[in-house]
Amino acid sequence: MARTDTSDPATWRTAAPTAEPGKRGLAPRSRPIDRHVPYLRIATEEAWSIPEIVEAQLRLLGSPNAPDDTSLRMAGMFAKMSALQEQLQEIGEKRIARMDELGIDKQLLLLTAPGVQVLDPDEGTALARLANDRLAAACRRYPDRFAGLTAFAPQDVKGAVAEIERGMKSLGMKGAVLNSHTRGHYLDEPQYLPILEALEANDAALYIHPTIPPRQWSQPYEFRGMTGALGGFSHEVWVHTMGLILSGAFDRFPKLRLVIGHMGEGMPLLLYRFDWMQSNADGRSGLRGGAPPVTLRHAISYYFKNNIWITTSGQGWEPSVKFCMDVLGPDRVLYAMDYPYQQSADECAAYDAFDLSPAHKKMLMQTNAEHVFRLK
Ligand code: CA
Repeated sequence: MARTDTSDPATWRTAAPTAEPGKRGLAPRSRPIDRHVPYLRIATEEAWSIPEIVEAQLRLLGSPNAPDDTSLRMAGMFAKMSALQEQLQEIGEKRIARMDELGIDKQLLLLTAPGVQVLDPDEGTALARLANDRLAAACRRYPDRFAGLTAFAPQDVKGAVAEIERGMKSLGMKGAVLNSHTRGHYLDEPQYLPILEALEANDAALYIHPTIPPRQWSQPYEFRGMTGALGGFSHEVWVHTMGLILSGAFDRFPKLRLVIGHMGEGMPLLLYRFDWMQSNADGRSGLRGGAPPVTLRHAISYYFKNNIWITTSGQGWEPSVKFCMDVLGPDRVLYAMDYPYQQSADECAAYDAFDLSPAHKKMLMQTNAEHVFRLK
């Protein structure tokens, strides 16, 4: 994890640009935020949590049978950051006041990484249910300010399917969130097919949010301070996303919808090469532990333009946003802030100033989110 040096997440975003002028880099300059823009700012990767999950993570971490799980260790580190926990666990007036300062009209709330996926199956599902109940209550209380994604514990496949259904049918959730791998396992493995089926059947867009790489390949990242946003997070979601594509998941479930953050974790930049090199995996035998070879119906880029949407979380950088809107389509890119990990009114103001048509800007900031997450 990056930035273990501070317990005050409010400083995370601004530390680099202000502490040393020479390292200001690409951070937006400070400017007043326009309170009267002709669109809502809907932020679609905004984190929250409940104390019961943090307590369960710490209990497991401290127990003699704690699994060797990098995500659980990350949870233990986050648990010590009291200011961060305070911001994650508050989904009421304080958060709304901060949203007003930042210029955010509505947050889509995602149970923060690693959430319930580091826990044992039964406890994972029980705490997913508790979190979803509380989130649904907050969304009912503040329907104009909050919407939520249903959390689930894939290590309990039956419980996960039931919770996705309950979230979508009874709780008014707008999709589902997965904090990527579960003790090194990914949704493209055959035991998770019922989960993909339930997501498609319930029209639940799945947001795959990063966690740190699993222990099997985390060491080179940990050695270099790169487990988080400097590499590990993105590469971990990359494996998950490409794994799903190459497994044929979107051929089997053509209406399955996936959302990935951080400009699609950088993948859109390489679609040309993915298509060119598709035969490295496509139709090849001997992969996936000897499972039957998978031959995709389409080029890899097709799935990015038909099944996948990306968000801009933590990346208020005009060239990257414009590139992705250009190659994926203007309907494929959604604004996200990544509260409370990155929070900055400067970044919102930078988006307002992007050189986009008024129609495309409204899609980016508001209507694409309304469409993908069925907010209306
Ligand atoms: Ca995030």
